[in-house]
Amino acid sequence: MASLIHERCFNHARREAVARCPECGRFFCRECVTEHEGRVVCAACLGAQLHPAPIRSSLFGRLLLGFQVVVGLSGLWLIFYFLGEVLLTLPSSFHEGTVWRDTFEEKP
Ligand SMILES: [Zn+2]
Ligand SMILES: [Zn+2]
Repeated sequence: MASLIHERCFNHARREAVARCPECGRFFCRECVTEHEGRVVCAACLGAQLHPAPIRSSLFGRLLLGFQVVVGLSGLWLIFYFLGEVLLTLPSSFHEGTVWRDTFEEKP
C-alpha cells in the first residue's frame, strides 16, 4: 500500500488518497469514501449501487427468461419421456430373476 502515498484524491487534487475504490479503481481521500457492506467504495459507486440503473428492455428480458424456462422444462420432459420409453422396451426377462428370487424367499 506504499503506492497510496503518491496518489491523490480523485475529487480533491491537494489531498492524499487513503483508499482505492474497488469498483472504479480510482483513489480517494478519507472524505470521499464510504464503507458499505464491508467494502470501502467512493460516493459515486455507492450511489450507483444504491440506485442501480434500470435494466434496459426489461420486458424483452422477461420474455427471454420465460422462453429459456420453457425450453429447459421441455428438454427435461423429453429426457424423462425417452428414459421411460427405453425402460418400457426392456425385455420382461430382464426382471424375471428378481421375481423368481422373491417368490423363492417367501416360501420357507
Ligand atoms: Zn468508485
Ligand atoms: Zn476527496
